[in-house]
Amino acid sequence: MTNTAEDEQRWIAETLERLSHSQFRAKFQLADKDRAYARAKGKATIDRHAHEMLHDRVGAAEPKNDGRQTPWRGHPVFTAQHATATCCRGCIEKWHHIPKGRELTDDEVNRLADLVMAWIERDLVNHPVR
Ligand SMILES: [Zn+2]
Repeated sequence: MTNTAEDEQRWIAETLERLSHSQFRAKFQLADKDRAYARAKGKATIDRHAHEMLHDRVGAAEPKNDGRQTPWRGHPVFTAQHATATCCRGCIEKWHHIPKGRELTDDEVNRLADLVMAWIERDLVNHPVR
């Protein structure tokens, strides 16, 4: 569990680094359409979506259709969830050591949403508008 903003930034950097060593996770990037959507909506809105989607789709103790609840694309947060292993409780347990079978705390949802946002922002920076 992280306490300070500085700890959290370090955790995000380390986690993105860890994910980059997974061939499966590292291959994800945003579709052009989702990138355009993220830019049009702006960071604050996508950040709110990230919190809502994580809370609603993986936040429960036993989420509906767990393991298959996250589409591959259609919203930047969906793709980011696969890339950051926040797509289902199995991946969250394996990669982020949060046990299955209990609700995520607000703190955990916030932390995973920050990871998702960091991944999206990095993708946008790496793919500037031409
Ligand atoms: Zn998963």
